[in-house]
Amino acid sequence: MPGWECAIGDCSAVYGDVTDLLAHQVTEHGRHECRVCNTVVPEGFFAIAHFFDAHTRADYVRAYDADSDDIRVREDVKADVEDAVDVAAVRERLDLDAGADDAADA
Ligand SMILES: [Zn+2]
Ligand SMILES: [Zn+2]
Repeated sequence: MPGWECAIGDCSAVYGDVTDLLAHQVTEHGRHECRVCNTVVPEGFFAIAHFFDAHTRADYVRAYDADSDDIRVREDVKADVEDAVDVAAVRERLDLDAGADDAADA
């Protein structure tokens, strides 16, 4: 099993446990401001999860000048991570939901 590669920018950190990868993305990388709703999320998986949970593929294409391959890659990553780990539990462990209430009603 090859492990989980970070793949943000030219980061190629690899982790055996997806929880460690997500913690790495949250703590070692910056934040990303969603181009559609301006929510600030950690780069990497959580930015992808935010986008595809909150917005549509058409929004993604418009906002990020993406094509269908870009979307497929990101949807695959999201599905793989969500299959491998309880994302809600990881969010809680990383304390990502603190202060998220104001964004939820927008
Ligand atoms: Zn990284
Ligand atoms: Zn958004």
